[in-house]
Amino acid sequence: MADETNPFHIVQGQLRRAVDNLHLGQSVYNLLKDPMRMIEVAVPVRMDDGRLETFIGYRAQHTDATGPTKGGIRFHPDVTIDEVKGLSMWMTFKTAVMGLPYGGAKGGVICDPAQMSERELEELSRGYIRRLAPMMGPEVDIPAPDVNTSAQIMGWMLDEFDRVRGQHLPGFITGKPLVLGGSEGRTGATGRGVVFTVLAAAKRIGLEVKGATAAIQGFGNVGSYTAHYLHQAGVKVLAVEDVKGGAYDPDGLDVPRLLKYVEKMHTVRGFPGSQEIDTRRLFGLEVDILVPAALENQIDEENARLVRAKIIAEAANGPTTPEGDQLLASRGVFIIPDILCNAGGVTVSYFEWVQNTMGYYWPPQEVDRKLRAMMTKAFDTVYKMKQAHHISMREAAYLVAVHRVAEAAEARGWVRRENAMEIPSDQLQAMATPLVDPALQTAHSQAPGNLG
Ligand code: GLU
Repeated sequence: MADETNPFHIVQGQLRRAVDNLHLGQSVYNLLKDPMRMIEVAVPVRMDDGRLETFIGYRAQHTDATGPTKGGIRFHPDVTIDEVKGLSMWMTFKTAVMGLPYGGAKGGVICDPAQMSERELEELSRGYIRRLAPMMGPEVDIPAPDVNTSAQIMGWMLDEFDRVRGQHLPGFITGKPLVLGGSEGRTGATGRGVVFTVLAAAKRIGLEVKGATAAIQGFGNVGSYTAHYLHQAGVKVLAVEDVKGGAYDPDGLDVPRLLKYVEKMHTVRGFPGSQEIDTRRLFGLEVDILVPAALENQIDEENARLVRAKIIAEAANGPTTPEGDQLLASRGVFIIPDILCNAGGVTVSYFEWVQNTMGYYWPPQEVDRKLRAMMTKAFDTVYKMKQAHHISMREAAYLVAVHRVAEAAEARGWVRRENAMEIPSDQLQAMATPLVDPALQTAHSQAPGNLG
């Protein structure tokens, strides 16, 4: 039996189900079940104490059927080949569900950034990109931040890539500092997108957002911005947790003060006026919205039993195991699947890349308006699919995504979909018009004849 917590096996199972449901045939499964390219690199770094240490890193490029491969780079001691492979496939399906012109990729370096100095991290970041530069580029494979990697790290990586190529290529990487061609709104984009999907889900299940309650596991970039935007929407955030500990206030945490505290202390633990809380208790809190925003496999069968929330917003990649998922589904919990819920990050990455290509930059309001439009549209597409086929949000998201990737692969002549299920075009709206801004759409449809 496949390992229940191996991300690569989990996503292969999800792909298998979608391929079967869509009657796409074995060839489509065989084509997509493995990354098209898996690169391993060894990166020597001169440590501050004079030792030379070698760090192992990976980059998985899953498929480029729908465009250059895209996905973040994580720095973490537990990175494995199968984790990176699985995450690269989730990126393919994430970009596909959003209708972005990308395939999927993911990078990982086995290291513990908490134990490294800034100089060591810079050398590692530059060395990793030097090794991978021949296989990357704005039209080939475009990295971005992920767990434990920041805008500053993207800045170093961009500089290294520019030096290797002898050119300025800002579209090589996204999530970089504004001054190097980053986009407004990119840092908070994943959390912002999570909240847009939560608002859409709440509407569908008739939950009043103002005064609703939430708990968040994980308080890095994604968790903290999710807390900020939930708070802004009138949700009471009762509990948060990071690697060092948790903070709980049954009356709701003062989120703006908490964010300031975390900036100084680098943890939520010990936040004045809060009680300590551990993961199991946090998962079992009586809240409306539960947000796993840390790593994979946090909600397994055992933790799933504790859950009392109405909505689970998967801000992390792969936070729920297949068994946990089944249990929650049988209890009617509304799960917003990761490939939809946390797609705000890669969507603004896409905006960043578009702006780099044009050399023309948008104000924050424009980024936000476009992100809201795309998240809401993708949510509605998946929801429609769920209703039409009486399946879960996760299965529906995979149907939308795998259908699109298979269609592109067929159009390239890679496979033939033998008896593929027909999907009415109105159910695939988000894919047909990914780039059209609703405001522009009206303007165009009212325009007299050819605008060219
Ligand atoms: N690391 C983020 C993710 O998992 C963002 C990837 C990107 O912007 O390319 O979706």
